[in-house]
Amino acid sequence: MKRVIGKLNPTDKNVNIWGAGFSGLVIGYYLKQKGYRVTIYERSGKIGGKIGTRKTSSGLIEMGANALYMNVDATDLLKELRLEPIPASKKLRRLLLLNGRPKRPLQLALLTKLAVNGRRKPPLISDGLTVAEFFRPLLGSENISKFISPVLGGIYATPAEQLHFKSVFSDFAHQAQFDSYWEFTKFMIRNQKLKPKLEVSGSVSFEGGMQTLINRLGETLRTEIKLNYKEPFKIKGNTILCTDAATAAKLLSELRPEMSTELARIRYQELTSVTVFLKREIRSLHHAFGVLIPLENGFNSIGVINNKAIFPSNNENIYSYTFISRKMCSNEEIMSDIKALYGEFVLEDVDFIENTYWERALPIYDLQRYLSVKKLHQLAQAGDNIAIFGNYAAGISLREMISAARDFALNPLEYKESP
Ligand SMILES: Cc1cc2nc3c(=O)[nH]c(=O)nc-3n(C[C@H](O)[C@H](O)[C@H](O)COP(=O)(O)OP(=O)(O)OC[C@H]3O[C@@H](n4cnc5c(N)ncnc54)[C@H](O)[C@@H]3O)c2cc1C
Repeated sequence: MKRVIGKLNPTDKNVNIWGAGFSGLVIGYYLKQKGYRVTIYERSGKIGGKIGTRKTSSGLIEMGANALYMNVDATDLLKELRLEPIPASKKLRRLLLLNGRPKRPLQLALLTKLAVNGRRKPPLISDGLTVAEFFRPLLGSENISKFISPVLGGIYATPAEQLHFKSVFSDFAHQAQFDSYWEFTKFMIRNQKLKPKLEVSGSVSFEGGMQTLINRLGETLRTEIKLNYKEPFKIKGNTILCTDAATAAKLLSELRPEMSTELARIRYQELTSVTVFLKREIRSLHHAFGVLIPLENGFNSIGVINNKAIFPSNNENIYSYTFISRKMCSNEEIMSDIKALYGEFVLEDVDFIENTYWERALPIYDLQRYLSVKKLHQLAQAGDNIAIFGNYAAGISLREMISAARDFALNPLEYKESP
């Protein structure tokens, strides 16, 4: 399991958290529930970090995360917060760009590969193994670029050649090797079946978008959050760093230089998220969740989210699409992607467009991140009342962060082994 790094001092009931993004808010929430006096210091003028919904006359715009993928802990959290989730529409088509057109992924092609190569033995699950290396003997390099990279890219925005196998498939982190790809597939199916059934599964949002979740967490902590906080960082009693890794490295550079060095090694992917409100539907995305786009396809985006199809009640009046690009991307470049998806598109179809660039959008889940996090766990063991949390430490998605924060609040004193 992916965990918060470090521990708290049991005799001190005060906790100082740096950063009011999702990680800071959710860990603050759970610690407060456990009787801690929490103070959150946020450098900017708002809470939420990479989650924020803008309301425009055209509709809602998610600047960052657009959905919460559910698990048991997320289900319990929403109940505690008395938040009614809006489930994503079911049975939407999941499309992949193949030969320049959005198509259903050829499950048949993948099943054929499993039938032909399923008896092969996958590589040893070593610390250095990448996702691409694991799947190559089964699927071949071409299918990795065509299928595996875009599918995982929808979460990590990083190609399979860079993704660290144990970090992405953490359920298998303690498995030495599978006898065959068949064994691996059976293990995955069994694991899936063991997961508890949820009342609401899949992705959810909220009336008013993801900002509603942030606001509700903020309300439970309101008096404890200090916005626009510009005082120098200090370690005073129990301290939890909930900024991105590069900022945490700067904050700790003098006080904990070894930790700072490891944090600085964690790399980030930049992303641009562009939401376009169109007067006409992109027909090839009709009744589709969106489309995942392999790299090197002449497109500027790696994926398109069909907001209206997924959450119709939040996008009533207009067709809304969010394009995600792995670079700083202009509106013109996005228009060219729309044109490639939908030949009849003309500029007059655009009602409104919003472009959000994130320099450190997502941590890269590569071998370096894995090694640095492992080292940080060791350094924290020898250290004192410092904990480190965020989407590079305990899972990239919101639900993983909820689980890790809840787990930590249940026992913030016990040192946990590295993930
Ligand atoms: C475009 C995009 C789409 C995404 N979509 C999804 C999705 O659909 N579902 C999902 O589960 N995840 C998604 N994610 C990932 C998810 O949004 C992030 O993992 C998560 O929001 C990160 O939270 P965090 O608290 O770790 O970091 P951040 O959100 O970066 O929060 C860090 C906070 O620390 C503050 N800070 C920085 N420096 C200081 C300082 N010196 N002192 C005090 N405060 C400081 C910052 O202002 C910020 O508020 C997406 C991410 C992006 C970029």
